[in-house]
Amino acid sequence: MLAVALDQAERIRQSVAASFAARDLYTEQQVTALVGSLREAEKRVKADLLRYADLGALTPGQTINQIRLAALTDRLDDTIKGLKGEHTLALKTAAKESHLEGIAQGALELKVHGLPGYDALTGDTAKRLAKDAFSLMDKSALDFLVRFDVQLAGQVSTDLLTGVKNALTVGIAQGLSIPNIAKNIGSVILDKEAFKQAGKTVFATAQQRIELIARTEILRAHNQGRLKFYDTVGVREVRWMVAHDERLCPICSELDGKVFPIDKFPPIPYHPRCRCSLSAMPLRVCSTESLKLTAMAGPADSQGSCLMTPQQVHDVAGAQKAEQAQTNKAIKQGDYESLALKPLQEEAKKRGISIYRTKADFIKLLGKQNPSIEYSTWATKDIMAEVAKQGIGKTSARRTT
Ligand SMILES: [Zn+2]
Repeated sequence: MLAVALDQAERIRQSVAASFAARDLYTEQQVTALVGSLREAEKRVKADLLRYADLGALTPGQTINQIRLAALTDRLDDTIKGLKGEHTLALKTAAKESHLEGIAQGALELKVHGLPGYDALTGDTAKRLAKDAFSLMDKSALDFLVRFDVQLAGQVSTDLLTGVKNALTVGIAQGLSIPNIAKNIGSVILDKEAFKQAGKTVFATAQQRIELIARTEILRAHNQGRLKFYDTVGVREVRWMVAHDERLCPICSELDGKVFPIDKFPPIPYHPRCRCSLSAMPLRVCSTESLKLTAMAGPADSQGSCLMTPQQVHDVAGAQKAEQAQTNKAIKQGDYESLALKPLQEEAKKRGISIYRTKADFIKLLGKQNPSIEYSTWATKDIMAEVAKQGIGKTSARRTT
């Protein structure tokens, strides 16, 4: 019995290691692309600086140079704006892809537990399951993460632009030549050892920051996908998993192997560059008969917590999609009366229409029932008491004109 348990622990460890490898490979590819964009921006910045140098020697304070300087800074603005756009798009895309990959890897890890439906998963079917599960998940955390990425990319670009402009202004004031100013802003350095020696130039700092952001945020999106997936299919306890190598930090090694209820799981990544992950505690799948398909609340049956199978996830996602299609059709046809309250509220919110009745609505409705009473002179609390007495609802079930 113990041998079996050990064997499974070892298989879980191996499975987590395999998903670490896939995740880290993806992260490095994204880092390379982001650094590549930065390298292109550096080339453009330097070409612009040197073109400016070709126009003649700088003499501080001369009007003609001020005009040229303004033209140069416009070009720098454009270049860094372009970089910001590229970095923003790349980080946004990476967050979404990594989130989906985290779901798929999380599902594949359940193979080790030998659960029906999960035991047969392949890379492709895990991806399909990830899409189904994603459609059932709460997207607000991912939306927040994407906005955070955009903000971080923006800060790196803003600081880079400020740094280049400062180097230029200070350099001119000190009488430096443009080639020297260009040298002072540094370079993107692809060689890891050389990069460590690079010091704090404007470009080395930007490179360091964008690499750190990419590594931390892509892992965050990945782990969040995994955690949300487990929560959606009904996993109730998860285990903290570290990357077992020489880069393991003391904070994380203390968390290694600890089990938490899914809603009490510590923030992951725990710190910048944290490479930790999480793994589901063993479970059984829900029986079809007793399965209460309430994806967000987490399924359970008479025996307690259980896991939705990939097929069940697919079915619930399909049913939700069909319901959404029906709602969309009703909205398109203006058939609001057939809508349930929730989709109606969502549609009203989208259009900025409040379906909650206002004081004026209540006065109008009460006036219809008792035309002889002038409700408009009543205090709000008396109106509301009358509303309750007459059984008038607080929301308008149909569109009011
Ligand atoms: Zn860690």
